[in-house]
Amino acid sequence: MIMSKCKRCGKCCECIVLNRDPDQIKETASREVKHSNFNFAYRNFIPITQEQAYQINPYLKEWKQSVQYFYTCRRFDKATRTCKVHSARPNTCSEFPWYGRKPIPQSLYSPECGYQEDLKNLGKEKELNIKESEMMRTLKKALRTDN
Ligand code: SF4
Ligand code: SF4
Repeated sequence: MIMSKCKRCGKCCECIVLNRDPDQIKETASREVKHSNFNFAYRNFIPITQEQAYQINPYLKEWKQSVQYFYTCRRFDKATRTCKVHSARPNTCSEFPWYGRKPIPQSLYSPECGYQEDLKNLGKEKELNIKESEMMRTLKKALRTDN
């Protein structure tokens, strides 16, 4: 499993796509501990319209998810395109996008995102698995024919 690296372009901080609206974030945050991801999101993510989101990041138009709410983060420094709380950012940010697990097909925030490489490798891995299964089928068939 190859894990690529973040290029620190800031695209996933200046406009964030979530499947929860602000009320749902508030409700979830109220049930979690103070430093939870949703508490952080409630305090720092500012809702923006879809139009604003598409202006900030036109690539988001390619996302296919049906439920989308858009936010920007008040901890994002637009001038330097970096996180103002980098060492204290929540794990929803620090472990994005794979969260310590194997990469899965999903939309990323930029065609140049460093993690696109993992998605390409996933495609190659799938292709190899298909070829391997085809070879095994052919081999089994050949062995059956020989008997
Ligand atoms: S969009 Fe990708 S490369 Fe850019 S900051 Fe986010 S994770 Fe890193
Ligand atoms: S806390 Fe930092 S890393 Fe997380 S979204 Fe905001 S600016 Fe980005």
